Amino acid sequence: MSYPDDYSTDIEKNKMDLKEFKEKTQIAELESKVLRLELKNKDINRENVQIKKENEILKRELDKLRIPPLILGTILDKVNERKAVVKSSTGPNFLVNLSQFVDPEDIVPGARVCLNQQTLAIVEVLPKEKDYRAMAMEIEEKPDISFEDIGGLNNQIRDIKEVVELPLKNPELFEKVGIVPPKGVLLYGPPGTGKTLLAKAVAYETNASFVRVVGSELVKKFIGEGAKLVRDVFKLAKEKSPCIIFIDEIDAVASKRTESLTGGDREVQRTLMQLLAEMDGFDSRGDVKIIAATNRPDILDPAILRPGRFDRIIEISMPDEDGRLEILKIHTEKMNLKGVDLREVAKIAENMVGADLKAICTEAGMFAIREEREFIKMDDFREAISKITGKKEKCSYDMPQLTVMYG
Ligand code: ATP
Repeated sequence: MSYPDDYSTDIEKNKMDLKEFKEKTQIAELESKVLRLELKNKDINRENVQIKKENEILKRELDKLRIPPLILGTILDKVNERKAVVKSSTGPNFLVNLSQFVDPEDIVPGARVCLNQQTLAIVEVLPKEKDYRAMAMEIEEKPDISFEDIGGLNNQIRDIKEVVELPLKNPELFEKVGIVPPKGVLLYGPPGTGKTLLAKAVAYETNASFVRVVGSELVKKFIGEGAKLVRDVFKLAKEKSPCIIFIDEIDAVASKRTESLTGGDREVQRTLMQLLAEMDGFDSRGDVKIIAATNRPDILDPAILRPGRFDRIIEISMPDEDGRLEILKIHTEKMNLKGVDLREVAKIAENMVGADLKAICTEAGMFAIREEREFIKMDDFREAISKITGKKEKCSYDMPQLTVMYG
């Protein structure tokens, strides 16, 4: 069978059209793929720039953390624009260089400076004494925490009222009965159970100012200054009396003495001696009281627990289910809850301390915000608990036993 000539030309033409169409579609597809890849490339580049920036910030942070602590000193004499004689707080005098970041104008006799631990070069000039003291202490004229803001610690609140609040508010009671009120009380328990909160509430309830120092900072942040800072804290407390001195992490300055003393241990020793001397030196009938806190009662030096010092010890334990419920009620007071059974939350939030429960409430609120809701549901709490539980498992904590301390 034969076809007319123009029929076969049509087929050829159609074939050509089809081929052309296919090629065009392929080109269009490739072009759109190129466009997508270009966009992706742009995104990756932008992300890359962002990550590089973050990396720089983290590197700088890390460098800061790696810097060894600085030694404090006082300028005795300025020799020339780049050299000075300094009395270091660890004892001897040195002729040292000024780092290029220090303005020679600031180097005047009596100025307090920071020295690099290895080269002893002056790397920073500290602000005047008062500001410097403030750097090591947290001072609140009147903290705004009351006993009502504390959940699950009713027995401990009763004890602390007896030991600290009563002698501050009614010192004559003790005089009439003829007993000496305690000077200080030691709170011990796992982190985040409310020790700081309790000390602040005592200050609030007794209209006292609140001065907080952290043991580890006294001996590590300002080398050679621990003992002086302790003296300053007591002096300041007297100026601001009635006053509660709160010494957090007291174990850092009051751990059992060891036989071989390194330089750092000697620093801790000097600080502890000063603390004991200050405690022995002030009148227990006065209006300065000391509250100390520790997570490690087992390593404390028995000297710190002798009568007239921290002779009252209060355990701040993990909250039980009722305690957890009380704490949850406090932290959800202003939250918009819908269908949330706090008793059930307290039940499933096993092994959580006050700080965790506060974090759970905040986290539950965040879940609601993420879903653009204005109220918080039971599921938000469930998710928050599993998130916080996950974090806690990474850094679990076992409370050492106090009995070890008494042998
Ligand atoms: P650390 O040993 O780590 O210093 P701490 O025992 O002093 O911890 P706080 O600093 O008092 O713990 O608690 C941290 C936060 O957790 C408080 O600001 C408070 O919001 C919450 N919190 C802890 N315990 C309680 C509690 N019993 N009632 C209400 N809130 C609490």
